Amino acid sequence: MSNLLPQAVPERCESRPAAQPEIVHLPERTADLGAGLIVRRSLPTRGRRLVGPWCFLDLYGPLEFANRKVMDVAPHPHIGLQTVSWLFAGEAIHHDSLGCTATARPGELNLMTAGRGIAHSEETPPRNSGRLHGVQLWVALPDAERHREPGFDHYTDLPVLEPGGGRAQVFMGSLGTAQSGTRTFSPMVGADVRVGGHGVLRLPLEVSWEHALVVIEGEVMLDGTRLTPGGLHYLGIGRAGLALSAERPAHVLLIGGAPFETAIVMWWNFVARTAEELQLAREDWQQRRVFGEVTAYQGTRLEAPPLEGRPVARR
Ligand code: MN
Repeated sequence: MSNLLPQAVPERCESRPAAQPEIVHLPERTADLGAGLIVRRSLPTRGRRLVGPWCFLDLYGPLEFANRKVMDVAPHPHIGLQTVSWLFAGEAIHHDSLGCTATARPGELNLMTAGRGIAHSEETPPRNSGRLHGVQLWVALPDAERHREPGFDHYTDLPVLEPGGGRAQVFMGSLGTAQSGTRTFSPMVGADVRVGGHGVLRLPLEVSWEHALVVIEGEVMLDGTRLTPGGLHYLGIGRAGLALSAERPAHVLLIGGAPFETAIVMWWNFVARTAEELQLAREDWQQRRVFGEVTAYQGTRLEAPPLEGRPVARR
């Protein structure tokens, strides 16, 4: 997806990991994009800009439709990040400027590594289930990797942990002994977690990482606290595991990782380190340099929004 809630002023985002376990609820920001598509942004949000290397989380749907193209995000550029397209229902077809095409569907990951620059589109395919529900996440690339050549990967065989009380499918990084095998450049986890509705689901965590949960459906109990849908539940650092329970089946997303070592600057679909890099990337896109063309997309590409001012530090 493109950042559909762009601001003119870039944001400087610093990692501020909590020193101990905690549960802090941070509200989401919601935007109605028309055609019934509502996007709920939980990251970056007021009070939390990064969780490990995760710097962006948009939830969209659930939506049911007929004879419509609900998702139609025209070609747009990215630098300095990976886009993680993970669906709970429905389909989204990806085309990019490397010539890659792949359909994301539940259990199958589309992972694009932008590196120095790539362009892509994401659309509801002509043949579809009439449903759409999913997340778009971004991972900031570390300094040594952020200028690498771009790439795209599609994964269909992602590991599942089933310790009792539910299951967790790992789509990025690792969770205990389960390794996603997907292309990552810093220590992290991204997992789709189903709490069964009876018993306790115990998941191992890396104690030095920070973690957060987003409740997609239902309610879960953690440390005597009831976690509900809407926004981000930040869990801090220093947890060796999670014990989740639920009275009815519930669905949550787990993200985490080693605290990110450098401050990032975000604007539109770019993750960089300085305002000058953002300005150059914007000009490269507008002048049709660097990013290439998404020739498989039928239609016109997105224009970059205005970029104004110096980066503003947001907490
Ligand atoms: Mn995108």
